[in-house]
Parts: sequence; C-alpha cells; structure tokens
Amino acid sequence: MEFSEIAALFKCNKCGSCTSVCPLYQNTVLEGMAARGKVALLEAVADGRLEAGEAVRAKLEDCLLCGACAANCPSFVPTTDLFLEARAGLAKELGLPLPIRLLLRALSTPGALAAGTPGLHLFQRLGLPQIADGPLGEKLPPMIRAALRSMPPAPLRSYRSRARRAESNGTGVRGTVGYFAGCFMNWGYADAAMATRTMLGRAGFRVEAPAVMCCGVPHRAYGDIETARELARKNIVALEQYDHVVSDCASCGAALKEYKHLLKDDPEYRERAETLAGRTADISEFLVKHEFPPPQFHTPLRVTYHDPCHLVRGQGVKSQPREILKAIPGVEYVEMQGADVCCGAAGSFCVTHPELSEGVGGNKADSILETKADVVVSGCPSCLTQLKAMLAAKGSKIKVMHPMELLAESYRKNS
Ligand code: SF4
Ligand code: SF4
Repeated sequence: MEFSEIAALFKCNKCGSCTSVCPLYQNTVLEGMAARGKVALLEAVADGRLEAGEAVRAKLEDCLLCGACAANCPSFVPTTDLFLEARAGLAKELGLPLPIRLLLRALSTPGALAAGTPGLHLFQRLGLPQIADGPLGEKLPPMIRAALRSMPPAPLRSYRSRARRAESNGTGVRGTVGYFAGCFMNWGYADAAMATRTMLGRAGFRVEAPAVMCCGVPHRAYGDIETARELARKNIVALEQYDHVVSDCASCGAALKEYKHLLKDDPEYRERAETLAGRTADISEFLVKHEFPPPQFHTPLRVTYHDPCHLVRGQGVKSQPREILKAIPGVEYVEMQGADVCCGAAGSFCVTHPELSEGVGGNKADSILETKADVVVSGCPSCLTQLKAMLAAKGSKIKVMHPMELLAESYRKNS
C-alpha cells in the first residue's frame, strides 16, 4: 500500500491530543479507536512491519470519519485524509466485500433508489421498523436492529416529483439556484427539501433541481475512488450552469466543495471543480449571506441544535444555523453540551458498527435530553435519522427537524 503523502504520516508525535476528542475512544478507551492508534498502525504498514490486510482494514473502519482528530491535532496531521487514502489503497488491493459493492452500485444508480422506495414506504406504513424498539428487538441480531432503527423516512413521492407538480416558487428576482437534491433529501426527507425550496423562493431565488447523481461520499468512504470521481464529474456537468448551487445535506455540500481535491489530477475537470466549490453553499450559509426575510410568526419552542460533522468541520459552517434559529420569534435557543461532537451515524457506520454507533449516539441523546428542548434541529439527513433513533430508544418524544422545516413553518403560520 502506497501513501502519496507519507511524510504527513510521520508528522504525528503521539501527543495524544486526538484521543481526548475522539468519540469512539471516549466510549471504549481503546487506543486503536483514536487517530493516534490508527496512525501508528499505518506507520507499521508503511515501513513494512505489518501486512496491509483485512485486519488493518477492520481497524481503519472503526472510525466515524468525524474529523475531530484532524481539527484538534497540534501537528496538523491530516488524519482523516490519510485514513481515506489508506482505505482506497486497501480497496484496490483487496477489493470490497459484495454487500458493500451492491450498496455502492445501488447508490450510483438512481433507478435502483426509485424502484426500492415504494417497498420501503410500505414497510414503514406497516410499522415494521418499530420492532427494533419493542420486546422482539432485543432478540434481533444487532446489525438488523440497527438497520431497522436507521431507516430514513421513505415518502411515496420524492422531492423531485413533488417539486415538478408544485406551483412556481417565486419570480427569482435575485437569480436562479441549482438545488442539489441528494439521495437522502430527495428520497427520504422530501418535506425538508420542499421547505428548502420554499425558503429559497422567499429569499427571491428561483429553484431548479437538475438531475444529479449521488454526491459520492459513501464511495469515497469505502475507498471506491474511481466511482466517486465519475459521480463528481457528472455532478459538475449538471451543476456548472448555475451561479449559485445550494445543498441542504451537510455531507453532499461538503462533497461538492471537496471535488476540487478529488479531481486535482484531472486536467479537464480540475478548474471546473474549483469553480463549482466557489459557487456552492449550504442552505443556512446561503440564506444568512443573502439576508433572508425575517420570519414574523411567534413560535414558542425551546430549540437546540446538533452540528453535523460535515457542516461544522467539513464546511466551517457553525454560526449560520444558530443565527437562523435565533431569528425565529418565540424560539428559546439552548446550546447543548458538545453540540459539535459526532452523533455516531456516519452513513452506514450505524449499521455496520451498531454497538459503537449506539454508544456515541446514546451520549448525544443524553446531551439533547439535558437541554429539555422541545425540538432538536440538524442540517444533515443522516444525523436526523440517528437522532430520532437514539431519542426513541430512550423513550423521548423530542421532535427532530431540519432547520429549513422549522424556519419555513414559522412563515406559513404567519400568512
Ligand atoms: S493529535 Fe496529531 S500528533 Fe497528536 S497523536 Fe493525534 S494525530 Fe498524532
Ligand atoms: S475521525 Fe473521529 S472517530 Fe475517527 S479517529 Fe478521528 S476523532 Fe476518532
């Protein structure tokens, strides 16, 4: 296994600062969970003391890719980039397991998601996912229970189909936005996606949702770099006609801004990816920048906010969602302890590593419960799904919402 930035690996002085911020280390107190342990593992592979095999891959996959270690490393070791590079190297040498290959293939085939959603919708209408939190749930294998708990909502109609039938959303006096309707938002959180559309309309922008592909985050995480690059190129072609590109999914937004690194060696797409990154914004970042019209309706709710890793560390967006929530009259905003600590979802990690994910997610649910909030808000569909599951497991009825749902609701009641 080769590292393009092997020098970065040896910048680690084993100070241990990363252990104090690693959610997995804090739950397990196992050195291999923290970045320091993983860096030591990769050093051993790089200098030939250890073979790059399945055992190394398993250790590297004990990671949320939350970025807390990289953000807190005094030696600026790009830990998560190194872990991703190592995963890609291992995927190349060892291949990927069949279930992962099937999952990644489905995500890069929009027709597969369209075909699967009605079945998932029926499954949910019958209340079958609730089995996970009932007496039967304890008897299920942990991965099956986690899969049931981590199921995103599956409305019968996707965002795209609803937006096609909806009335025009404004004159677009301030321009047109290319909205990136990612897999999770389009198929699972269509209500929140419609709220984003409404808010962009209220801010004076016309919204178009070009036919985009999966952002490529899952492919990159599992090391299928070539598919991630292919998806990136297709998304660049679909979006580059827009002056403004907006995402309301933290992971998709971070991916679009990252294409410039992913395609840095592609002479045809390098500059196009740079241009796209400069035009892309998370919805909260975009609305604050473009001074969205203040809501008037009194919404008497105690609200707290969870920072998605891909928004706070991936995109540096921290103040804007809070600014939006505080702008809603009647909202009593309360900050939770460790708001920027990962919730433990991390895409499919919550299914492949159920115990670790539930440990981290349980801590997050406790932090939310301590605030005595009525609503917890987060701008990432993966986090929303995990927060709902972790709160439900504790018997809590706290509502979990995307910030655009709460914001759009506060205008609707006023009109
Ligand atoms: S904080 Fe950085 S330098 Fe310190 S042990 Fe972790 S990775 Fe190494
Ligand atoms: S990315 Fe997160 S989970 Fe992974 S080692 Fe770093 S702090 Fe721990």
